[in-house]
Amino acid sequence: MFDATRVVRAGLPPPRQGEPFLPGPVLAAPYHLSGDPAGVPYTYGRFQNPTWAHFENALGELEGGPAIVFASGMAAVTAVFGVVLRPGDVVVLPSDAYYTTRRLASDYFAAMGVQVRMAPTAGDAQRDCLDGARLLWLETPSNPQLDVCDIAALAAAAHAAGALVAVDNTTATPLGQRPLALGADLVVASDTKALTGHADLLLGHVAARDAGLVERLRLWRTQTGAVPGPMEVWLAHRSLATLELRLSRQSENALAIAELLAARPDVAGVRYPGLPHDSAHEVATRQMQRYGGVLRFVLTDRPHAERFLGACRLVSEATSFGGIHTTAERRARWGGDAVPEGFIRMSAGCEDGRDLVADIAQALDQARP
Ligand code: PLP
Repeated sequence: MFDATRVVRAGLPPPRQGEPFLPGPVLAAPYHLSGDPAGVPYTYGRFQNPTWAHFENALGELEGGPAIVFASGMAAVTAVFGVVLRPGDVVVLPSDAYYTTRRLASDYFAAMGVQVRMAPTAGDAQRDCLDGARLLWLETPSNPQLDVCDIAALAAAAHAAGALVAVDNTTATPLGQRPLALGADLVVASDTKALTGHADLLLGHVAARDAGLVERLRLWRTQTGAVPGPMEVWLAHRSLATLELRLSRQSENALAIAELLAARPDVAGVRYPGLPHDSAHEVATRQMQRYGGVLRFVLTDRPHAERFLGACRLVSEATSFGGIHTTAERRARWGGDAVPEGFIRMSAGCEDGRDLVADIAQALDQARP
């Protein structure tokens, strides 16, 4: 089946007379439970929840391996680090990975005795750091630089060195690329972003090829309590049905915006893997089915970027990405990423691309130094 069909049906239970297509959220802390709990599927809300189970089935179908849902993307990242890494282990991260992932590794896990090595996503530079590694962590396309690495090639090199491979697939989603099919052992994502896409919840998940690893992640969730609310998970499952529609429109809009930006003399550093002349286009085209909605570019300096953001009528200034509303932010306002003051990450939404292109063009004209 094609992707649009798969997402509409993913994880739905078999049809039952008089029952809804997607059962409503089950809001329960304890469930009725008398006598011996062995074999009872639902006992306590931190252990299991039927709303999670439907959504995890959906994610498992899309990722190609069993999935566990977490309270946020960072809860999912932490679960993988916590389950895989032990004192003395080496983790190889992208130096341009999501800032909080890098901080979690270098603040907390390094203090617990894990050695953290970093190299850029571009040029598959992490390949040179694999000696003795326990975990290779990839993020492609990377946030916010939008660099791309070759998942299959790096997974083969990591496996040859005896390391597990995890891919943060947040920017791509499973309809953009399927890391497990490309050789990764684990795929991790913030479902706060494009997977759910409505800017109304935080959520994350991990999927793996090895069922034993998934059980250890499930135990981690139970023991640390990194559990998602059933209402959020139900909303996520409802939103997942439109993922193909949203992602197709976002990708189309992102390309139109990137083409506009690339043609303007007042804009530099445009990166979008879907742009034919982008340095990542060839490898992205090999491993991605859709290029997604996120792009980035650089204006002269902070005032230029702030004038541009202030002049946009259809681009809301916000952090996060992947939603139905087009958003952008001057990334340097947070610190932590090696980006110039005028660096802007933009997330194309689901509006009509003609309106977006016209609005961004007028905002650039107004902001011109
Ligand atoms: N991974 C990437 C690539 C992200 O961009 C983010 C958030 O921006 C996360 C993980 C963390 O996700 P969350 O905010 O859902 O905890």
